[in-house]
Amino acid sequence: MTKVGLGIAVGCAVASSVIAAVMVGRRVRSRRRWWKVVKVVDEFEENAVTSVGRLRQVVDAMAVEMHAGLASEGGSKLKMLLTFVDNLPDGTESGTYYALHVGGTNFRILRIQLGGQRSILGHDVERKPIPQHLMTSTSEELFDFIALSLKEFVEQKGNNLQIPQVRGKDIGLTFSFPVKQTSVSSGTLIKWTKGFAIEDMVEKDVVHCLQKALARRGLDMNVAALVNDSVGTLALGHFYDKDTVAAVVIGTGTNACYFERADAVIKCQGLLTTSGGMVINMEWGNFWSSHLPRTSYDIDLDAESQNPNDQGFEKMISGMYLGDIVRRVIHKISLESDIFGPVSSKLSARFALSTPLLAAMHEDDSPDLKEVARILEETLDIHDVSLKVRKLVVKVCDVVTRRAARLAAAGIVGILKKIGRDGTGGITSGRTKGGKSGKMRRTVVAVEGGLYTSYTMFREYLNEAVAEILGEEIAPYVILKVMEDGSGIGSAMLAAANSARSVDTVQVL
Ligand code: ADP
Ligand code: MG
Repeated sequence: MTKVGLGIAVGCAVASSVIAAVMVGRRVRSRRRWWKVVKVVDEFEENAVTSVGRLRQVVDAMAVEMHAGLASEGGSKLKMLLTFVDNLPDGTESGTYYALHVGGTNFRILRIQLGGQRSILGHDVERKPIPQHLMTSTSEELFDFIALSLKEFVEQKGNNLQIPQVRGKDIGLTFSFPVKQTSVSSGTLIKWTKGFAIEDMVEKDVVHCLQKALARRGLDMNVAALVNDSVGTLALGHFYDKDTVAAVVIGTGTNACYFERADAVIKCQGLLTTSGGMVINMEWGNFWSSHLPRTSYDIDLDAESQNPNDQGFEKMISGMYLGDIVRRVIHKISLESDIFGPVSSKLSARFALSTPLLAAMHEDDSPDLKEVARILEETLDIHDVSLKVRKLVVKVCDVVTRRAARLAAAGIVGILKKIGRDGTGGITSGRTKGGKSGKMRRTVVAVEGGLYTSYTMFREYLNEAVAEILGEEIAPYVILKVMEDGSGIGSAMLAAANSARSVDTVQVL
């Protein structure tokens, strides 16, 4: 070989080893980056753990907090509010009634015609989004919008009513915010949640505001019941099935209520009701326990929210927040590595990923996860991600959804535990009215809300966790029943139940 030839050969060898070194270096770096990504996801999963042991701790904490909230005003983060609903509909109600539902994504107006014998003869619903600006304006503007919408609805012919000429006068108002009730048809707003913030409304009587707005519009109607959405759901559940003892709403926000013995409401001594019990609105969105598996993403979400240190349970469970938790994890991964390309500005924006989109990614069953790629691209401005990365995104969605569903399940079992329907201590303590043999009684929990009804994976995880916590002996006695539109229909039913009664059945001595 000539000197020149030798030089070229050496040069080639050096060049190829440099190229090889660069490639190895890249591979090592990329592996290191992937390792970092895996670490972020693993850490998240570990901190979000919901083993059955952990869930049982949450069950106990829920039951303990319920006791504390019933023992004294301010005794727990759970407000355990009196609803003054002492009798639930039993199917004998008849006539035409209206309901207004404020506090969901959509404002809803309903008209139902009840025919006795557990029958609903007709049912009309209108859904309207509440214009964004009204959510933070004045109470007068908000209620004027509501009254005008009701007036237009009342003036329409009832398409689905059998006897449209019969016009009801009684309205049930479903108001899904924390309210301190003073009777079944009056109560003051404690605070806003879910993005509403109308300062002049806080501590005002909600029914009074609506009644004034109705008068301004010349509507001669009467608000006969002011109920929380969970109470409406319980009412509808009980209308169909008398074994319904509790109701849970899991939609944009989350809440629960249940039927409690009057003597267990220690903070209201001398509460006399005809039934011996009363529905308690737990406001469980504000539940908190150190056993809840909280992650750094939850802490950041809370700190940046409109209501820091508030509604902690809701922020881990409900539709308003789940998408944003996923977004935060993806954002963190994007900061730690380049697997999503340059950090997109959309990915940094709060609430950029909604929960229905999270669900669509989670439930994408196409082999190449096309839907995941499309949503990342169109919603978060993240392009050309590999299948491996798409799978990772699905994994993050799964962790967030599974944790939410399982925590909600623990909350439900917590309620059952409080009333001795979970098959544990209650049976021997005599708290459970389980019959002489001490056997579990059939127990129904009514469930409403888009997260549960429209997100199959969420629903399956929740149902599965309830059965897992209860164990196979007790689980068959506990039935979760979907009550579509329960919050509205049930509220109209409570208006029916309360307009028919000439005297108050609840007394506080
Ligand atoms: P609201 O809670 O506002 O009264 P819904 O009960 O209909 O109304 O719940 C709506 C919420 O449910 C949405 O904000 C969304 O978070 C969630 N949701 C609705 N549809 C789906 C879906 N297909 N997948 C996941 N979440 C959904
Ligand atoms: Mg709702």
